[in-house]
Amino acid sequence: MLRVGMIGWRGMVGSVLLHRMREEGDFSGIETIFFSTSNAGGKGPKEATDGGVLHDARDVNKLGCCDVLLSCQGGEYTTEICGPLRGSGWKGYWIDAASALRMSDDTVIILDPVNADVIQNALVRGVRNFTGGNCTVSLMLMAVSGLFKAGLVEWMTTMTYQAASGAGAAKMLELVKQMEYLTEPAKAHPSENALEIDRVVIQAQRDSSLPTKEIGVPLAGSLLPWIDRDMPGGQTREEWKGMAETNKILGMEPPVPVDGICVRVGTMRCHGQALCIKLTEDVSLGHIEQIIAESNPWVRVIPNDKESTLRCLTPTAVSGTLNVPIGRLHKLQLGPEFLAAFTVGDQLLWGAAEPLRRMLRILREHLGQRL
Ligand code: NAP
Repeated sequence: MLRVGMIGWRGMVGSVLLHRMREEGDFSGIETIFFSTSNAGGKGPKEATDGGVLHDARDVNKLGCCDVLLSCQGGEYTTEICGPLRGSGWKGYWIDAASALRMSDDTVIILDPVNADVIQNALVRGVRNFTGGNCTVSLMLMAVSGLFKAGLVEWMTTMTYQAASGAGAAKMLELVKQMEYLTEPAKAHPSENALEIDRVVIQAQRDSSLPTKEIGVPLAGSLLPWIDRDMPGGQTREEWKGMAETNKILGMEPPVPVDGICVRVGTMRCHGQALCIKLTEDVSLGHIEQIIAESNPWVRVIPNDKESTLRCLTPTAVSGTLNVPIGRLHKLQLGPEFLAAFTVGDQLLWGAAEPLRRMLRILREHLGQRL
C-alpha cells in the first residue's frame, strides 16, 4: 500500500486539503503518516495509520519511509528538508504547496486542468518533485488559459485583490481580531453620524494596541499594496511569479509578458484579480466567451451586468466552492484588441489544495499502471 506522509496539514492549505481528501475518499487505499514541526508525539487526525501519533517533521529517517510526501508547511521547511532528504537517497515523490522548488528544472508546477500533458510527460520522464503554483497564477489560468492556448494573448496585466488567508492561518485570525478591535469603539459609542464613526474607526486603526503581531500593520478596513519581498526592477516577488510561473505552467516559448500590482485586501478568503489582456487580434467577445467557457468544467462566464456581477463575482459568492467565475468581460476604450476581465477564485481550493489532492490521484494511477 502506498505510504503517504503529510506535513503542514494543520495550516490554512493543509486543513482545506484534509477536508477535500475526506470529501473525495482519497484516504482509502493508502497508509497515511502525519508529521508536525511543533507537536511531535501529539495525536494525529483520525486518518493517521501509524498508531495515530504525530511524527517529527524534521526526522529525515521517518520521512524517508514514505513513498510520497505531501507538504503544506511552507517554503522554509521545504528548503530545510527536501535537499537533505534527497541527499540521503530518498527516491519518493515530493508534492508541495510552497514556492521554494517551483522554478527548479527538476520540478513541475501542477495544475492538471491546464497542464495535464506536462504532468504526465514528467511522470514518464521520472520527475519526482511536483509543486502547486502561486495561488493567483493558478486561479488566473483556471479562468483564461484557453486564451493563452489559442495564441490570443500578446501580453497581460493582473491587478490582484488577495485575501488575508492567502498569507496563512495566523494572519487570517489576526484580521478577525483587528475587525473586532475596530468595531468595539463604535459599539460603545453608537452614532448615526458617519463622520463621527469614521473618526473613531481611524483612531482605532492607528492605535498602538491594535493587534498587528502577525500582519505588522492594520489590514482591517485597509489594504496593503505589497506582498512578499522585493525583487530587482521594482516588482515584488508575488508580482514576479505572475510571468515566471504562467509561462512555466503553460510551457510557453517565447514567454508571454505578464505583470501587475499585487494587493492584500481585508477579505477573508478568495483572491480577485482584474485582467487587461492585449489580444493578438481583434476577436469578438462572443468567441472569447466561448473559448473561456469550454476550457475546463469549473470556469463560469458571468454576464457583464450589475445583477449577475454582484451575485456571482465576489469572494462571498465563491468562497468554499471550486467554481472560478470570470466576468466584466468587455473591450476597453483603449482599442478593440484590449480585453478587460475580472475573476475570483478560492485560493485555498484551486489556488492551493485542489491541485495537490489531484496530483496524488494522478500519481496513484500512474504507479498503479506500472506496479
Ligand atoms: P499556515 O496556515 O501558516 O500553516 C503552515 C504551518 O504553520 C502549519 O502547518 C502549522 O505547522 C503552523 N501554524 C502556526 N500557527 C498556526 C495556526 N494558528 N493555525 C494553523 N497552523 C499554524 O500556512 P498556509 O497558508 O497553509 O501556507 C502553506 C504553504 O502553502 C506556504 O508555502 C504558502 O506560501 C503556500 N500557499 C498558501 C496559499 C494560501 O492561500 N494560504 C495558497 C497557495 C500556496 P505545525 O502544525 O507543524 O505547527
